[in-house]
Amino acid sequence: MKADLILKNAAIKTMDSARPFAEAIAFFQDRILAVGQNNDVMELGGPQTNWLDMTGKTVLPGFIDAHEHLSWFAENYLNLDCSPQKADSIDKLVEIVGQRALDIEPGEWIRGVLYDDTKMKDGRVLHRDDLDKAAPESPVIVVHVSGHWGVVNSKALACGGMDRNSSDPQGGELGRDPATGRLDGRLYEMALFNFAFESLAVQPTVVPPYPRDIRKDAVRKAATFLNSAGICSVGDALCAPSYIMTYHDLLHAELLSLRINMIVPYQFLANFENLGLTGGWGNSWLRCSGIKIIVDGAIAGRTAAISQGYENDPDDHGLLLIESQEELDHLIRRIHDLGYQACVHANGDIAINMVLDAIERAQQDNSAGKPRHRIEHCTMINDAFLKRMARMKVMALPFVSYLWQHGEKLRPFYGARADRMFAHKSFLEAGVKVASGSDHPVGLHSPLLGIQCMVTRKTAAGETIGLNERISLEEAVRVYTADAAYATCEENLKGMLKPNMLADVVVLQQDPWKVNPDEIGSIDVEMTIAGGKIVFQKN
Ligand SMILES: [Zn+2]
Repeated sequence: MKADLILKNAAIKTMDSARPFAEAIAFFQDRILAVGQNNDVMELGGPQTNWLDMTGKTVLPGFIDAHEHLSWFAENYLNLDCSPQKADSIDKLVEIVGQRALDIEPGEWIRGVLYDDTKMKDGRVLHRDDLDKAAPESPVIVVHVSGHWGVVNSKALACGGMDRNSSDPQGGELGRDPATGRLDGRLYEMALFNFAFESLAVQPTVVPPYPRDIRKDAVRKAATFLNSAGICSVGDALCAPSYIMTYHDLLHAELLSLRINMIVPYQFLANFENLGLTGGWGNSWLRCSGIKIIVDGAIAGRTAAISQGYENDPDDHGLLLIESQEELDHLIRRIHDLGYQACVHANGDIAINMVLDAIERAQQDNSAGKPRHRIEHCTMINDAFLKRMARMKVMALPFVSYLWQHGEKLRPFYGARADRMFAHKSFLEAGVKVASGSDHPVGLHSPLLGIQCMVTRKTAAGETIGLNERISLEEAVRVYTADAAYATCEENLKGMLKPNMLADVVVLQQDPWKVNPDEIGSIDVEMTIAGGKIVFQKN
């Protein structure tokens, strides 16, 4: 058998302890045929082989971002950018929404995102009347950058059949004028989710999903962008039904350049139960192994459920989206019994404790199945949690570059507790498996920046937080490769460079082991290969 493609003269770090370093790697179709010294691999070359001289550049297994939000990110290519960079005042926002209204058919939705009232000049919050001025004939929704609230106009409220007589949904609120009770267009939490977020709604949303072909194009663009950062696989950590369809459309058209693990919200678990569809279905490009549950709030939003309260308000213990332990036990038990990984968002210690109790009960009641359960983010930990996680083989997916992005918020909110957040070192020392999770587009997408942060624990401003939780470069690369493959039960398929594994690699312009650790995130990706095909090449 001759290779289709051979990379030679490379500095290959395989992540395979049996052969950590190599000079050349040969691919046949979508798999690795051989890894070794130039001379060993040379004989696999034939007349059809494409040879690429790497001139000493570093080659790693393609990066795997086990917790990402591909479908949200794809929609950034479609939604109207209302960020402070585009609109630093409400007048400017009204202008850009008004311009979009001129380009579309009456009745078509205008969907703005990234609106941030705290970074605009006005000192007041957007109101339905502002959006009515901008686009009286089109339904408009503008979602806040946090994703937890948004503002709609009168046309949009009418589409949802909402008026002053509408009551607040469970877990959400409709904003009102305090004097008159008239809706002001602001939708908080579940009120927004039910209105616009298919993946979080408990009913069909008022804002319809984008058309099928438009979604397909947007995902292709998003995937190409992620490929350019060396990413070959992602977990879509909240994959809605319309994107299950879109990803299948791309799979069948052989247009996927990124491997996708769909993590489906628990709201759809009953559908899988009714079909008898057990966990791990799909192939190496598109599969579904996990069910998502969100138990508490966010670290930077100071809504994580924490026992000791917030630094400047000890009586504030954050919020639980699932308050009942029985409800959580029941959900995780169903996920466990159907053979899916429970991928449970839990930031605060109250939430993490609830998740561990629920997993423990599910494992005790049914020890036959052994799905690998995961705590997404798993931010506020203690030694007791570490012991339990190691014993129950529960994985942690802490944020990788949160410190870089939000470091300045952590001390004021959490004080000394910030030192043990994103506790990569503690997890590894306790024998808990740790995988990557950028949370992009909420977090930053770059794996190299994530690796830099795990190694340095430095914020963008240069402050260090919790140096005891630093891990080695070798460990950090593993978090983004071999251990991220383990997080989707695909460790025999990818995350290492050895024969028969998938032909997914990233070529870097510089060796991360030879630059200043503060510069790892600035290293350029030279080339990304997924399934033996070049999916990105720097020109
Ligand atoms: Zn997420």
